[in-house]
Amino acid sequence: MSALPAGSTIGILGGGQLGRMMAMAAAQLGYRCHVFAPEADSVAAEVSAEFTCAGWHDASALADFARGCDVITYEFEKVPVAPLAALPEGLLVPGAQALEVAQDRLTEKRFVEGLGGKPAPYLPVDSDDGLAPAVERLGTPGILKTRRDGYDGKGQWVIDTARDAQGIRVPQAGMVYEGLVRFAYEFSVVLVRGRDGEVAFWDSARNLHEGGILMRTDLPAPQIVKDQVAEALALATRIAEALGYAGVLTLEFFATEDGPVFNEMAPRVHNSGHWTIEGAVTSQFENHIRAICGLPLGDTSRMAESVVMANLIGHVPPSAEILADPKAHLHLYGKGEAREGRKMGHVTHVG
Ligand code: AMP
Repeated sequence: MSALPAGSTIGILGGGQLGRMMAMAAAQLGYRCHVFAPEADSVAAEVSAEFTCAGWHDASALADFARGCDVITYEFEKVPVAPLAALPEGLLVPGAQALEVAQDRLTEKRFVEGLGGKPAPYLPVDSDDGLAPAVERLGTPGILKTRRDGYDGKGQWVIDTARDAQGIRVPQAGMVYEGLVRFAYEFSVVLVRGRDGEVAFWDSARNLHEGGILMRTDLPAPQIVKDQVAEALALATRIAEALGYAGVLTLEFFATEDGPVFNEMAPRVHNSGHWTIEGAVTSQFENHIRAICGLPLGDTSRMAESVVMANLIGHVPPSAEILADPKAHLHLYGKGEAREGRKMGHVTHVG
């Protein structure tokens, strides 16, 4: 494909902070963005040329939106896949298959296993009756997760004893019961693949989660992570190739004594890659835009030995307080109300 010329319009499905930072990178390269999202208060739309506020299943709004876009991408992996089938062939990048795989934990684990990945031991749970036998077979402790619609630790229950599973109702889409992994650290692989198949990675960071939410990302990662990165990158590359992927793809892993255990994938830019805005020669957002527009990829090298990204969750200190540190880069997402667990912004320190 020839590269999209500056002035072309990029459609973004989803209106959150990832879309906002994508749109800012797109603007730098001279592209216009058109956001499509169901919520009226889109922080991505605030920095984009156009906004369609409509439901995912509004076929005529989606068709109108698509007519004005030269490429369409997504910042949110829960976009329903069925309506996207009506989009003209090749307009959606990455394609819908990556969404389909990532939207269902069971499909995702099987897909990744098929490509040689190693998830935590797991069993599908299809009904209320299936829960106790799964917990018995796999043992405790474990984590019960809804197959669909979970994020940031939502839709998950830690099961310490078989009794903890009592009273949990299995939703129609089913659940997955997985063994609790004893890990040294969590880390992610953030990959970008161009439309010509060129692949690049940023350095893998150590990710610190609390209550299922990413709190901070640190580089350089500890040695055990560094030792396991090559295997994780090889898996990520196989996944991207199998999906015919273009854009940024993220895989999350646990670093364990037995090597990298796959946790989950996100077919999009990722919170654990926010450090790349100031900490790498080319950010994940810019490279995502370059990749989907058919431009050459930018250098993913890290700019300093140490980089730390901390999320601002639920509460934002006054900007002047954060910026009293001259090395702090503050990103606020423009979300009105700070609620518990809500990602309001992040701060990055380079060097
Ligand atoms: P997830 O939404 O699946 O990424 O889970 C959110 C967080 O919960 C992860 O980043 C881990 O900190 C923790 N977690 C999830 N699954 C497991 C597991 N099988 N073993 C240990 N910790 C887990």
